[in-house]
Order: sequence, then C-alpha cells, then structure tokens
Amino acid sequence: MRSYFIAGNWKMHKTVGETVSLINELKNSLKGVSHKVLVAPPFTALDAAVKAAEGSNILVGAQNMSNKESGAHTGEVSVVMLKDLGVGCVILGHSERRIIYKESDAFINEKVKLALVHGLEVILCVGETLEEREAGKAETVVNEQLEKGLSGISEDKLPRITIAYEPVWAIGTGKTATPEDADEIHASARKKIAALYSQAAADAMLIQYGGSVKPDNAKELMAMDNIDGALVGGAALDSASFTAIARFDS
Ligand code: PEP
Repeated sequence: MRSYFIAGNWKMHKTVGETVSLINELKNSLKGVSHKVLVAPPFTALDAAVKAAEGSNILVGAQNMSNKESGAHTGEVSVVMLKDLGVGCVILGHSERRIIYKESDAFINEKVKLALVHGLEVILCVGETLEEREAGKAETVVNEQLEKGLSGISEDKLPRITIAYEPVWAIGTGKTATPEDADEIHASARKKIAALYSQAAADAMLIQYGGSVKPDNAKELMAMDNIDGALVGGAALDSASFTAIARFDS
C-alpha cells in the first residue's frame, strides 16, 4: 500500500524571512497530516528552513545540487553541504533544469547516484514537452528519461526515490493534464519500473504528478490509482493553497 507525498517546489522565490514565516504558518496548518509533506526553498533559505521546520512534520528538500562532491565548480552546491544543513531530500531533473540549463539525462543520473550515495532522498522529475505530446511520444519520452535517470541504480535504493511526472506544458501554465491523462502516463511509468526492476518495485514506487496542481484539482488527481502525490510549484508559495492541497483528503 503506497502512501501520499506532497512536495512544494518554491523555485526562485522567498527570502530567508519569508521562508521562516511560511514554514511557521505551515507548521500550524499541517499539524496532524499523516502523509509525507516537503518544502523545497531556495539554497539561501535552506538553513533557516531546516531550523524553522524542526520538530514538525514538514521535511525540507533542495531544488538541485551539483553532480560533484567538491572542487572547482563555481556557483555550485554540493550534496555534502546540503547534508551538513540537515537537508534530507533533493529535487533532480526538473524540466526548468533540463530545458533552461540544458541538463541531460546522463548528467541528472550522476546527481541521482551521488545523492543516494550520501543518503539523500531524491525526487526525480520526468515529463514531455507539448511538441512531444502532440507527436504521440509522451510515454516514450517519459520512459526513456526514467531508464536513463535510474541507470546504474540498484533496486534496494528505489525506496529513497520518488518519481515526479511533470508534463512540461502543464508547469506554471494553469493547464493541468486531466486526471485520466496523467494516470495513463503514471501507469506506463510504473510498467517501465516493473520492466527495469520488478513488479514489487513498481508497486511500491511513489509517483507524484506535477503541473498546475491547485486546491481545486488536487483531490481528483490524488483519487487516481497511480497518482501518489503532487509536486507543486506556484500553489506552494502560499500557506492556504499549499495546505488545502496537502489536506486534499480531509
Ligand atoms: C513545478 O515547478 O514543479 C510545478 C509543477 O509548477 P506549477 O505547480 O506552478 O505548475
């Protein structure tokens, strides 16, 4: 039986002060939520976020990390530094990283492996562009991103990985995949995990949906068989909307 996992990707929003205020609000509003809830503030606010979230049911994650542990990599942030702050999870392969910063599947795979070696949990994002969807390639693209992103990762590490299916055309656009469309890709991704690993691994794998998840569509998305949570962008920046999404079941 899979549990739900709701994560908020704050992207390049929130100063340290704004981060602490939002987390303080969420600590109250999310009290008693039994499934996993995570916020991913920008790097500059991670230290304050970890401290603010202490003693609550809110986990803190990073939005990215370097593919190297240390060295001459100006402007990068290492997994070791994230761990040092008490960060337990990292979002990797977000479409903004893939598209704007040209991160390849192989590069993302290096990061996934490094995060796992250091004991971090990973949210691995996959998803097709509008062009790929219209060409009928959504499943193929997602399955290829999965295979390459998980390359060289053994089955025993999978419980530390969550997949986030985020169709690029639905991110920040207000367009959401219908619950049925999303579920179809989630089901095909699960089938791919079964082929790459085992049916047991596929059955246990958490697959979040991301792309304009809002309080008014969260419940119907979460009701689908293969949707196990959400990766939320815009609606995660406000305590009322993120709380309503995280409390979709109450
Ligand atoms: C995201 O950035 O991961 C995302 C899903 O954004 P939004 O919810 O704003 O579409």
